[in-house]
Amino acid sequence: MTARIPTPFPAVLTDRFDRRIDYLRLSVTDRCDLRCSYCMPKGHHDFTPRAGWLTPDEIERVAAAFAALGVRRIRLTGGEPLTRPDIDEIAGRIGAVPGIDDLSLTTNATQLAKHADALHAAGVRRLNVSLDTLDPKRFRAITGTGTLAKVLRGLDTARGAGFSPIKINMVVLAGVNDHEIDAMTVFCGTRGFVLRLIEVMPMNGTAQPPARAGATPDLAAIRLRLQERFGLVDAMVPGGGPARYLRSPDGFYNIGFITPISQHFCETCNRVRVTADGRLVLCLGRENSMDLRALLRDGACQEELIDAIRDAIAKKPERHDFNVPQHRPLRFMAQTGG
Ligand code: SAM
Ligand code: SF4
Repeated sequence: MTARIPTPFPAVLTDRFDRRIDYLRLSVTDRCDLRCSYCMPKGHHDFTPRAGWLTPDEIERVAAAFAALGVRRIRLTGGEPLTRPDIDEIAGRIGAVPGIDDLSLTTNATQLAKHADALHAAGVRRLNVSLDTLDPKRFRAITGTGTLAKVLRGLDTARGAGFSPIKINMVVLAGVNDHEIDAMTVFCGTRGFVLRLIEVMPMNGTAQPPARAGATPDLAAIRLRLQERFGLVDAMVPGGGPARYLRSPDGFYNIGFITPISQHFCETCNRVRVTADGRLVLCLGRENSMDLRALLRDGACQEELIDAIRDAIAKKPERHDFNVPQHRPLRFMAQTGG
């Protein structure tokens, strides 16, 4: 246990477009035990060496710096965060940072069964689990290598451990899994999960922009159809994210729509990302970033770290460029921290 890092002043972090930044997505690894077609380019091997990852001490310092700047919520992500051997320790360190009152995790759940209790004890409360299909063969086809049963076991264990809410992230792929949306709605409703339907973003070497390849079906039409079939109405679901939600009046079904392409939500963006190797990424769809690891390893004190983060946030771009046909970010999702 290291000495607690002080959070010297309560603050509110805003960018030059008056957006309040109160949410950090912190990637702990760019590695993964799956190879989802829309996330990692085929044959990718060029991972960050482990020595390049921020250590638990460095992660704690980064979390404390953001807390000092008014960030209250941190989500652990990756790559697959549960492939990092010290993930339970990292969660515990962040969970103990004064000012961080909402610690959450995004995972593919292949290893959730063995980590659920430790993560909950460390202070993680909210979980997002990626699950695009309920068919074992299709699951393997989309993820390249995965076993659906492990994910379902992980979800059961997480429910028992008391995580709430548990949200299921389903990336909707035309002609691949879009016919499973109704079955997924029922699956989530009966287990008390929130289903979120996500448009594919065109990242480097992965999915094509929808206008060119039809990778994402029309979520607006899907929304209307689900609304009628399940009797859904507009709803608010806690979490601070960009999803727009529908709910059945009895609360049984909860479905969110994340539409970065067809209806971008940049004007209300409240988040930044830190990659596993300590790069502060200001926008998922742009290249602007700053090297926090260099500062940490060059001996910067906590105040210098805080000042550098504040200065970087001032340069947060106004919006992403996903809809510009020639544009796609140089990073793919597992490198940035989705
Ligand atoms: N491995 C964990 C998981 O899959 O939940 C965490 C990291 S993953 C990069 C985070 C989220 O990004 C997942 O829900 C995944 O579906 C989503 N994602 C990855 N690539 C995407 C893309 N090109 N477009 C939209 N969502 C994507
Ligand atoms: Fe791995 Fe998550 Fe990317 Fe799938 S979406 S390859 S599980 S990081």
